[in-house]
Amino acid sequence: MTSLSFEGLIAAKRDGNSHTAEQIDRIVLGYAAGEMPDYQMSAWLMAVYLNGLDPDETVYLTDAMVRSGRVMDLSSIPGPKVDKHSTGGVADTATLVLAPLLAACGVWVAKMSGRGLGHTGGTLDKLEAIPGFRIELSEEEFIDQVRRIGVAVIAQSPEIDPADKKMYALRDVTATVPSIPLIVGSIVSKKVAGGADAILLDVKVGSGAFMKTEGDARALADELVRVGEALGKRVECELTDMDQPLGNAVGNALEVAEAIKVLRREYAQSALWDVSLASGSRLLVMAGVEDDLDSARARIEEASLSGAAIEKMRDWIGAQGGDGGVVDDPSRLPQAGYSREVRAAKSTYVTGFDAEGVGRAAMLLGAGRATLSDRIDPGAGLVLAVRTGDRVEADGLLGTLYTSNEDLFRDAEDRFRSSVHLGDSPVQPPPLFHER
Ligand code: URA
Ligand code: CA
Repeated sequence: MTSLSFEGLIAAKRDGNSHTAEQIDRIVLGYAAGEMPDYQMSAWLMAVYLNGLDPDETVYLTDAMVRSGRVMDLSSIPGPKVDKHSTGGVADTATLVLAPLLAACGVWVAKMSGRGLGHTGGTLDKLEAIPGFRIELSEEEFIDQVRRIGVAVIAQSPEIDPADKKMYALRDVTATVPSIPLIVGSIVSKKVAGGADAILLDVKVGSGAFMKTEGDARALADELVRVGEALGKRVECELTDMDQPLGNAVGNALEVAEAIKVLRREYAQSALWDVSLASGSRLLVMAGVEDDLDSARARIEEASLSGAAIEKMRDWIGAQGGDGGVVDDPSRLPQAGYSREVRAAKSTYVTGFDAEGVGRAAMLLGAGRATLSDRIDPGAGLVLAVRTGDRVEADGLLGTLYTSNEDLFRDAEDRFRSSVHLGDSPVQPPPLFHER
């Protein structure tokens, strides 16, 4: 057995040894090319899950994954190109808010995005809720659109990071998703292959997130930054709360409508706006168009209050074939036929959420998919009427459920009710930003 046989490489990782860059290339590129079968990759992934990867190995893994496919060449687009990735959460509509804001501030957003699975929504599904919106553009159309209007968001091309597609599908069914080096390889390789100059990663912490504790989230954030920088990118990471859903709307068309209202600044208070403002101003500084966070924040505020961002959103939707009129009239978005209000039995306080449960309730209404082939009901979902810390009177509204199939209300309402935690005394709302 040579040191590069797949079996020998699996044995080395099983026994806790470190791989060289050449060995990791053999595994990752061999798997992407179909030379290494799924059963051997499964065994290797489990060995990595159990024994970890050392810091160098994680960089080799990420770099090999990038080289498994093409790297987007955005160099023909003048100006700074940024990307932002969230590790996923419930009612996380920040991309829809941020992309037009940044483009209105002269920072180009050329983004490839994914679909939602399980209790977390995907940006592509939200965009597809807009009538006519095309998520598949050719590379030429994609780059041309960014040059013309400063923003395009499309489905991940199959030629970008094919190793991640195969490895992630296998991890999903071999109980090897929650491994920091494997998550870092997966996220950073996709972002590097996407070609942006500056990348902001939003690691979610809490009951609706992948990382349930601040310690785990911080460990992931540190690794994401280290590996991204080792591969030559400007990377920063923020830790934000996912103990309660970020926005109030959960569901595709409902989230698009909320993003429009947030951009129009129709809410007095919105955690979704607060996170978008923080991320947007950081990205303006990272992209070098503003020197400090205060001036960046002022510029983002101005882009929303002047209407420049909403105009950019209208242009963006229209450029991708969608009905740009939805930004002026969100009732043009798909509507579910049925709604049901969920009310409190007695006067009470909202003490917290099972954010994942809220996401699952929306899924039960038709807003999400359990497997990648499930169809989504674009108008389905729910809108929360309360946040953690709120007082609710007897018969006060907790939330409204929406679906096209009335039979789905019963289970969804049970799930929703058990995910909104009520109590006799008030609690402090959780902090939106966690210190790094
Ligand atoms: N998101 C990803 O893209 N990859 C992971 O491994 C986990 C979350
Ligand atoms: Ca940095």
